[in-house]
Amino acid sequence: MPDRKNSTELLIIGGGVVGVSIAYHCAKAGIDVLLLEKDQFGTATTSQTARAFRTYFPKKPHDSELAVRGLTEFNSFAATMNTDLGLKHLGLLTILTSPEQTAEIEALLPAHRAAGADVKLLTAAQAVEYNPWLDAATIEAAVWSPECYRVKPEAMVKGYADAAAKLGARLLTGAEVTGIDAGTGAVSTTVGEFTADSIVIAAGPWGGEVAKLAGMELPVWGQFAELLYTDPLAEREADTDMPFTFHPVSGLKTMGRGKGFLVGLERISKQEGLRDVWFEAAVEELPKWYPKAAGAKLHSAWTGTLDVTPTKSGLLGRGDGEHERILFAAGFTGHGLAHAPTAGRVIRDLHRGVAPEIDLTPFSLATNLALMPA
Ligand SMILES: Cc1cc2nc3c(=O)[nH]c(=O)nc-3n(C[C@H](O)[C@H](O)[C@H](O)COP(=O)(O)OP(=O)(O)OC[C@H]3O[C@@H](n4cnc5c(N)ncnc54)[C@H](O)[C@@H]3O)c2cc1C
Repeated sequence: MPDRKNSTELLIIGGGVVGVSIAYHCAKAGIDVLLLEKDQFGTATTSQTARAFRTYFPKKPHDSELAVRGLTEFNSFAATMNTDLGLKHLGLLTILTSPEQTAEIEALLPAHRAAGADVKLLTAAQAVEYNPWLDAATIEAAVWSPECYRVKPEAMVKGYADAAAKLGARLLTGAEVTGIDAGTGAVSTTVGEFTADSIVIAAGPWGGEVAKLAGMELPVWGQFAELLYTDPLAEREADTDMPFTFHPVSGLKTMGRGKGFLVGLERISKQEGLRDVWFEAAVEELPKWYPKAAGAKLHSAWTGTLDVTPTKSGLLGRGDGEHERILFAAGFTGHGLAHAPTAGRVIRDLHRGVAPEIDLTPFSLATNLALMPA
């Protein structure tokens, strides 16, 4: 009989939303789980989100599928986990601004529908009915996706972590992993030595650094990200009366925040020091698409570390050769809340040697390494 204290079937590195989801799904399947978090649960990237759970990712039906497959779990969270996620319906409006872009995005809609996403193409006039702050003159068309909610990430983390612990998983905080021997499954930490059959890297933006401890290349890194907010806008009333609105060409993302907007600008770069450049770009873009908000000042709401990969989708799979013992679920590039439920089940199945419910090719190491920037 192995010493359960120091050995485990599945050792998870990272206690963000992805790590605790894995702990829950694996413990529920009867797997002996040990999760090690260097800090506190859910206090890293998971605490920095815009709190949006969405099921439509315009150019990536595979990301839509990963999110759609988590929807049932989200909707039943209060009943199954005894935790209220505070779900508030937002809906997602994706704004298209040229005939070419509309044709490209429209051509992908059948694949999204096949993946289970509820999506419909709108005219410019219809788009403005969904979000009256937009200007129909600057819009070609839009995609409406109703399955988009504001959630409480901290409740998600607590729900998963508590449920996993109840099912017998051991979850330790203040436990930093400092060494990994992929061959033997030995893991060194600041709280002692462990061995595991499978080791899961669920360390978010630190995934690449943690993989290096095992001599493995995992192309995921942290990138500075900032959310902004506008001054209160005279005509805006309720907090959630506008959908989460995404403008892919500029990267502008907006949702209601009090009487103003919460604003993000999607920019991915490995270059450092772009904060001021991106801030100025947001200042420039906002009034172009929201003329009624012209003159509203932008302020920093909070900053964070985005979990980025070359494909801008999560890395989900198993290492090969000498790294076969290593499983990974990291780098969800701004979508980790939406993808955490399904990622948990995929890692469970990979550990058990069962075919996962989705095709992992778009999330594979090979697909990502092929696109690795210099
Ligand atoms: C500004 C911003 C807005 C965002 N908005 C959204 C949104 O609206 N919707 C959405 O779905 N996603 C959003 N995201 C992305 C989302 O936050 C992430 O995809 C998600 O939180 C990733 O979760 P995770 O568990 O993989 O990573 P994390 O939450 O970062 O967890 C990883 C954990 O690993 C731990 N760790 C690292 N190294 C070690 C080690 N050596 N030993 C032990 N533990 C270790 C860390 O302490 C950390 O707690 C946003 C991100 C940012 C920055």
